[in-house]
Amino acid sequence: MINRDFEAAYLGAHRAGLLPERIERAFALLESCTLCPRRCRVNRLKGELGTCRAGSMPEVSSYSPHFGEERPLVGLHGSGTIFLTNCNLRCSFCQNYSISHRGEGREVAFDRLAQMMMELQDLGCHNINFVTPTHYVPQILEALPGAIEQGLRIPLVYNSSGYDSVASLKLLDGIFDIYMPDFKFARSGPAQEYCEATDYPDVARSAIKEMHRQVGDLVLDERGIARRGLLVRHLVLPKGLAGTDEVMRFLAAEISPRTYINIMDQYFPCGDIPPRSSLGRRITGEEYEEALDLARAAGLTRLDNRERNRLVSY
Ligand code: SF4
Repeated sequence: MINRDFEAAYLGAHRAGLLPERIERAFALLESCTLCPRRCRVNRLKGELGTCRAGSMPEVSSYSPHFGEERPLVGLHGSGTIFLTNCNLRCSFCQNYSISHRGEGREVAFDRLAQMMMELQDLGCHNINFVTPTHYVPQILEALPGAIEQGLRIPLVYNSSGYDSVASLKLLDGIFDIYMPDFKFARSGPAQEYCEATDYPDVARSAIKEMHRQVGDLVLDERGIARRGLLVRHLVLPKGLAGTDEVMRFLAAEISPRTYINIMDQYFPCGDIPPRSSLGRRITGEEYEEALDLARAAGLTRLDNRERNRLVSY
């Protein structure tokens, strides 16, 4: 536990003059886009679009204090979420389908994105939570100095699908304090069937290792609010399709038994999921209890069980 005077990492990076070079390197990746593991090699700076459908400017679908995130992010005044438009993973069961697949949102200037961060901080939010940031890493970095100069001081949260390249994450080293990736699938069959990403399990493992290398286990301040570290989300799917057992064993053995994990029960069929498919139903209570048991059996000790609204530490 640390006191609330903890300084956000990007302030040190800004003082050290690191941001311009990171921004330049990040934008260079867009010329023949290899920002994420899709490696589409389109020139996003000239308007070409790859799998994510994102261009050269940031696009935002909404921003507001959010009270439905994990308790250490929400605290008393909410997590300052900025929902970015489009997605590089594009799960067929996405619960934000209109944003991720249909591109609902608006292009914003960099100074407007900085202003959004400031508005959220001024509302008392405990962090700036970029939702689906993978395909907008350069644009987020570009907006950041403007926000810092206006007085931004709360931690940044990188809230991604886990389909992130290590090279891209290294651009964020010493800038983001909190990483909150999903670990969606432990096996390539379902990852290919539902996301057209056969490499998802390997990519997510490497990405989560890099995130943990940068920020370590989740650290809370004296109010129980997250200041730095890794939180992992895992959405339990029907019929064990998420590979929950393997996910939990990987986290406990190769990341840390102190990994903060939110095991989510809210899957429901939506997006492109046909009603009679394997994902055509919600999970059962037994499937969810089994997922919790698998986490405990693997040796994980920090389970955020939102259904019961309590943090179980044991
Ligand atoms: S960020 Fe978008 S365009 Fe770039 S490699 Fe990923 S999916 Fe393709």
